[in-house]
Amino acid sequence: MPTLDPRTTALLVVDVQQGFTDMCPTELPVPGGLAIVGHVNALLALPFARIDATQDWHPADHRSFLGRRDNIYPPHCVIGTPGAEFLPGLRTDRFSAVWRKGYDPDFEAYAVTAQHPGFAAFLKASGITDVVVCGLATNICCFYAARDLKLAGLGVWLAEDASAGIDVPAAGLYQSEARNEGCALGIRYATVRDVADALGTAPPA
Ligand code: ZN
Repeated sequence: MPTLDPRTTALLVVDVQQGFTDMCPTELPVPGGLAIVGHVNALLALPFARIDATQDWHPADHRSFLGRRDNIYPPHCVIGTPGAEFLPGLRTDRFSAVWRKGYDPDFEAYAVTAQHPGFAAFLKASGITDVVVCGLATNICCFYAARDLKLAGLGVWLAEDASAGIDVPAAGLYQSEARNEGCALGIRYATVRDVADALGTAPPA
C-alpha cells in the first residue's frame, strides 16, 4: 500500500448533513447516510495537516429544486433549517474550515471546487499534496470534488466506508459509473483502515 504523509495530507468531509439522511425523509435521504458518522469520526481522529468540510447550503428557491429551473431534487439543505445542519455526533470541532456551496439560487454546485474554483490551488498553497475525501453522496458531491482535485494534480483517496451513495436517474447520476470514472482517473477507493495504515496510524477501535 502507498503511504500518506500526515504533514501534507488533508481530509475533506463532504455534506455530512441531516438533509441527506433519514433524519429528513422528505429531503434527499441517502441509504446508509446516518451510519457513516462513526466512520467519518474515525477519520477525523487521524492526523491530517488540515480538515475541510463542505455544506450544501441552499436558498428556498434554489434552481435544483422541484418546480424550479432544473426540477430535479426535493428542497434540501435549506439555509436555516435542520436539513442544512451537520449530523448529530459528528466531530465538527475537528474542522479547520467549512466551505458552503449552492447558496446562489441560480448556480448549482455539487463540488466545493465548482463553488470555490480556487480550492485546489488553495490546498496546494497550503502545502497539501494528497486529499482524503469522504461523506455524502459518494458518487455525487464526493465524486465531483475528488475528480476536480485529482485533475488539479493532487493525490486523491475516497474513503468508501465513510461515505454513502445513491443513484439519481433523473440527473443521470449512477454509483457504478462514478466509481469507474474515478478509478480510471486514478482516484484510490479505500477504507478508513487503509487511510489509517497509509498515515502510519492505528485506527481507533
Ligand atoms: Zn443540493
